[in-house]
Formats: sequence, structure tokens, C-alpha cells
Amino acid sequence: MAQVAAYAAPSARAPLGPHTIQRRDPGPHDVQIEILFCGVCHSDIHQVRAEWGDAIFPMVPGHEIVGRVTKVGTSVSKFVVGDLAGIGCFVDSCLVCDPCKRDLEQFCQKGAAFSYNGTEMDRKTPTYGGYSTQIVASERFTLKVPAGLDLAAAAPLLCAGITTYSPLRQWNCKPGDRVGVVGLGGLGHMAVKLAASMGAEVTMLSTSRSKEADARRLGAHAFELTSDPKALKSLAGRFDLLIDTIAADHDLNTYLGLLRTEGAMVIVGVPPAPAAVAAMSLIYGNKKLTGSMIGGIAQTQEMLDYCAAKKITSDVEVIPVQKINEAYERMIKSDVRYRFVIDLESLKR
Ligand code: NAP
Ligand code: ZN
Repeated sequence: MAQVAAYAAPSARAPLGPHTIQRRDPGPHDVQIEILFCGVCHSDIHQVRAEWGDAIFPMVPGHEIVGRVTKVGTSVSKFVVGDLAGIGCFVDSCLVCDPCKRDLEQFCQKGAAFSYNGTEMDRKTPTYGGYSTQIVASERFTLKVPAGLDLAAAAPLLCAGITTYSPLRQWNCKPGDRVGVVGLGGLGHMAVKLAASMGAEVTMLSTSRSKEADARRLGAHAFELTSDPKALKSLAGRFDLLIDTIAADHDLNTYLGLLRTEGAMVIVGVPPAPAAVAAMSLIYGNKKLTGSMIGGIAQTQEMLDYCAAKKITSDVEVIPVQKINEAYERMIKSDVRYRFVIDLESLKR
């Protein structure tokens, strides 16, 4: 067992502060990783505030982890000491159920071991995330981080990247498709970059006029202010695909009206309250309303390799861990350009 410096929320809604956790010594199939950077996802805020029901405290959030391998177990073949490595939203699963066999480990029927606010597969040992200086995980659930990527900017690929890459692939995003991205935060800015890289004609749908220039720089061909009813009216029936990243309650019917006949809207954001969908919003036009949760390990590796080849990373504001509570407040006000990333050096001093 190792004593590891971390930042934790002691209870729901309490501010995060310094904390010490224990990490296991690496078993035969494990890698030990010194964490260099960890992205800050809006899911961290939802969970620290217990907005998704029961939560486990003290909670060390963080599932966009990039670091360097410092130890490998005796049977490890994918990594050697000194390699770059990444950990995303989950660290283990049963590997024998149907979703696991189909490379959808996030939907493991026994319940995947999520990287924090969960337990290992023994259902006893709590998991702790990347707001810490070290993590130990099975090599099966550890990603290879391609060389050549800026490491701080690569960290958000482990959640924001895969969460937007996966539905773009599932809905066969291709050159000429009209893709609308709803909400320009961490997920939204990755959706814009990735959809544009796949050749789509991307429209940013945002509540923040001040983000227009950034949206275009990120690759959006058009920008529309969703608070402007005239702008929305002019977009009726336009999009093949909408990726909805909004973390707060909003009216889905408005956006469904922007889909073309047989178009699809994929929800990835998790607003707190259930949304009312009028049957006619779907029936008229054979429209599809669907969801998507992160991506399996194989697809996450595919996404990392794709991003390395296309030189795609996140636009980040690097912060010391001591600024995390302030960063949360800014994210809630949609004031993030476009992902906070913690430099774990700040926890080693
Ligand atoms: P974020 O960086 O805070 O961005 C959310 C964006 O939504 C904001 O920047 C803002 O964009 C827009 N927004 C916020 N409040 C709004 C409101 N009241 N009305 C309309 N738009 C609003 O969050 P994130 O990290 O991208 O995460 C977004 C959501 O996805 C969270 O709920 C998170 O839990 C969820 N998530 C899901 C998955 C998954 O697997 N499905 C994975 C990761 C995260 P504008 O300023 O452009 O309007
Ligand atoms: Zn996340």
C-alpha cells in the first residue's frame, strides 16, 4: 500500500481540500502511474454535489488522467516503466458479460468499476480518481497515450474526447453532414473539433454570444445564439445530427425541431431533471432521440490514435489543484475555455 496525496470532497457540496488516500501495490496485471495532468469534467461537479443520487465520500474526483508509468506488474505486456499512460472513466469490468465482450465495458452487467465515486469489482474497495498524484489500474483498462501530444491538452480526450467521438462514429459522421453541437464547454468544444475533422459542416448552438469567435476558430462553420428565436426558426429541419452537451435543464423539443427528416439527436449532457418530449417532436419527421455514454476501451484507444494523427487536443486552462473550487464555480457559470486541467505538480510540492 502507498500513501498518496489527493484532493477530496469530504461530503456532498463541501469544498474540496487536501486528503491522503491509499493505493494498492501493483498486482501482476497492474500498472502504477504517476499522474501528471487530470482534466476537470462537469460530471465531477455533478458527483461531488451528489446530484446523481448516492455518492461515496470522501470523494477524489477525476477521470481524465494522463501520466507516466512508474511500475509494472510481472505479467504486464502493454507497458514498460517510463511509458505515457491514460485512465478514463472506468478502471475495471467483468469482461465476460455481453457488453464487455462487445467492447462496451462501460455497460458491464455487473457494473463497471468507475474511476471514482464507485468501488473496485470486489464491491468493497472504493475507487479514487485523478485529483491525486498516483493511480494503479489493470493494463487492460489503461490507454496508450501517443507520443507527440501536449499532455495537459491530451488529458480531456479521456472523457470529453471519447464521449463526443463515440456518437459521431456511431451516427456515421461524414463529409458534408450537417452537425449541430449544443453547448460550448468541455464536451462541446471537442465535438466541434472532431466533427469538423470528419468533414462535417458544423454549427455551434450556444447561449454565449462571447464564444462565437472561439467556436469558429475551433472549426465551426456557423454560430447561432439559442436565445434568439429568429435564429432558431431559420435552422428548422437543417441538421443530420445534433450532439447535445448541455449540463442544465433545457427544452429538447426546440432542438428536435432543428433536425431534418430522419435526423438524430444524441444526448450526452446530464441535466438534473427529466425532460418532457412531445410525441410530435419525434413522430413528425421520423426523428431519433438517443443517448451515448463515454466509449469502450478499444474505441477510446482508437480515438486517441485518431487525435494524434489529426493533431487534435483540447483547449485547456491549466490550474493548480488548489484552484479547483473556483474552477467549479466558473464552469457552472459556463465560464470555461474550454477545459480546466489540473497540473498535479501542484500537489507534489
Ligand atoms: P461544461 O464544460 O460545463 O459545458 C457545458 C456547456 O453547456 C456550457 O459551457 C454552456 O455552453 C452550456 N450550458 C450550461 N448551462 C446551460 C443552460 N442553462 N442552458 C443552455 N446551455 C447551458 O460541461 P462538460 O464537462 O462539457 O459536460 C457537459 C455535460 O455532459 C455534463 O452534464 C456532464 O455530466 C455530461 N457528461 C456526460 C458524459 C457521457 O458519457 N454522456 C461524459 C462526460 C460528461 P454555452 O455557453 O455554449 O451555452
Ligand atoms: Zn467526464
